Formats: sequence, structure tokens, C-alpha cells
Amino acid sequence: MAGDYYSILGVSRDASAAEIKKAYRKLARKYHPDVNPGNKEAEAKFKEIQEAYTVLSDPEKRKQYDTFGRVDIGGGEGFDPSAYARRAGTWQDAGSFHFDFGGFGGTQGAGGFEDLGDLFGQIFGGGRTARRKPRPRPGADQQMSIEIDFKDAIKGTTAVLPVQRQVTCSTCGGSGNVRGRVCPACHGAGVVISTERLRVKIPAGVKNGSKIRVAGKGAEGTLGGRTGDLYVRVKVRPHPFFKREGDNIRTTVPVTFSEAYLGAQIEVGTIHGPVRATVPPGTQSGQTFRLRGKGARNLKTRAFGDHLYTVQIVVPKVVSPAGREAARRVADLYTKDPRAGLPRSLE
Ligand SMILES: [Zn+2]
Repeated sequence: MAGDYYSILGVSRDASAAEIKKAYRKLARKYHPDVNPGNKEAEAKFKEIQEAYTVLSDPEKRKQYDTFGRVDIGGGEGFDPSAYARRAGTWQDAGSFHFDFGGFGGTQGAGGFEDLGDLFGQIFGGGRTARRKPRPRPGADQQMSIEIDFKDAIKGTTAVLPVQRQVTCSTCGGSGNVRGRVCPACHGAGVVISTERLRVKIPAGVKNGSKIRVAGKGAEGTLGGRTGDLYVRVKVRPHPFFKREGDNIRTTVPVTFSEAYLGAQIEVGTIHGPVRATVPPGTQSGQTFRLRGKGARNLKTRAFGDHLYTVQIVVPKVVSPAGREAARRVADLYTKDPRAGLPRSLE
């Protein structure tokens, strides 16, 4: 990796250990992948900062670096930040990992990594819990979100999700070592990130913002700790015609003047298919009618909401002599001014 470790951390060559640590904290906070999801530049910078700090925070390595301008940082225990993450990673959100470095103490000799543990605990609010001996740790719950069509939300569907999970390393069985050497597959972390295509059943009636729990599909625990769950947050694309309100579905249905005036049987489209519905005589534009049980299914009660349709009287666009005559006769039907009694201003 290019670049001078001191200038990477922005400290002078005679900086004290405290100054180096302070500079590192500041930079790590700024460039941490959690803070910059998907930002490759920040990720590279973060690696650089970590490498610089690993060397400069270790008096032995720092001396070596000062003398020779380089330092052998040792094979498997290198600077792959994802390996750090795998050590005891807790995850949140698809794609952005929330790291908990608490498990480092004891596995890495030099001071740097223990520092990482409490450093990130402080940055990300994990609290300071020094763990010197490995013990079972439950796997973290994991979250991701998907977007589905309105129809799939109503009818239910099966989504295939690419899920990245932390699982026990199969090469070393989670110990981090193979015959006394650092495991080449997980670099000593004991866990690796595996990508699985997970089939998740999306139940009929799922709402925008619903969370679906998939038990046991979060991060695997270490040393026999329980596996976390996966929570899938569902975003439902709106439908141009059917609007969901709670478990009810709303639509607007145009009717003719004569249908509204005389009453009629009309067809109303619902998410359950077309339904014959009655427009009673004398129906007003804007009046809303209810079709019971023709709404969306409630996930908890499994009962269906209602379909509410609002009638909108449409007026023919083309004006003809016959239409003019008919309209005049319609006007005679109004026994009083429809705007009578309305306020005429704020006063
Ligand atoms: Zn391994």
C-alpha cells in the first residue's frame, strides 16, 4: 500500500501514541464503511487508515517502519477490514454492515486490535465490553428491504433474495485455526460471509412498511450461540387505480348523470375481481359506497377489509343541440340553488 503512514493519519513523525490514536479515531469515524455505504473511495481510505494505525500503534512495528520505511505485517492477519468484521460482526441493513469488534481481545496479540474493539464500541454505541475469553455469542439479527408490486402484496408471492449472512467458517469449524496456523479461509475470524439466495414467502395482504421475520436467517452465532433472524422490510409500489388505506381499498368510479339520477347497477373493479354494485337513485358526485370484505387481507386477523368506491359524475364533453335541450330540462329539475347557504367569503 502506497503512502506514508504518518501522512495518512495526518500526524508528525514524533507524534505520541495518544496523538496517533486520536487521529486514527477521527479518521476512522469519518471513513468507516457504516458511515459511507457503497463508497469505494471511503472504503479504500478506511483500509489505508487501518493499516497505518496497525503499524503506528504498535511500538515494535512503528520502530521497524521508522527504521526501514516498511514493515512486515504478517500474512493471514493482514489488513482486510472485512476479516475484522467477520470476527464478530453484527449486521444491520442489506449491504451495510454494523461491526462489533468486541471479540478481538485475546486473538490478536498486538495492542492495535484490542483498541479497535473499544474504539468501535464507542463510535457506534456498542458500549465497552471487553471479552478476553471466547464464549458463545448470539448472531445478530439482520435487516434488508425489498420492493414488490401492489398485486404481489395483495395476492402474496415468493421473493428470492440475495442474502449475505455471517456463517461459521467450514474450513476451521469456527476456531480460526487449522493445525496451529491461521485459517486461510477466514483469516482467523472463524466466520465468513456467505451469499445465499433465500426464498422468502411474502404473505397475501402485506402492507407497505410491513416487516417479515425469517427465523434463523440472520448472522450465525459463534461457538454455538444462537443464530439471529432476518427481517425483511417490504416496500409496496403504489397502484395507479387501487389505493390501500389500512385494510380498505379505495377507488374512484365515474358514472353518468342518468346513472346517478335514476340509479343503476354498475360494475366496480376490486382486487378480488369485478363486482356488480348498486348506485342508488339520487346519488351525488363524491358519495362513497362500501363493498364489504372486498378489501385487502389483514395479516394478523386474516379478515378482509372493505372496498370503498367514490362516485364521480362525468359530464359529456360534446355539446350538441339535443344535449343543450336535455341539459335545460335537467336544470329545471333543481328545485333550489345548489349553492344556497354556502358562505360567500371569510366575513
Ligand atoms: Zn476458518
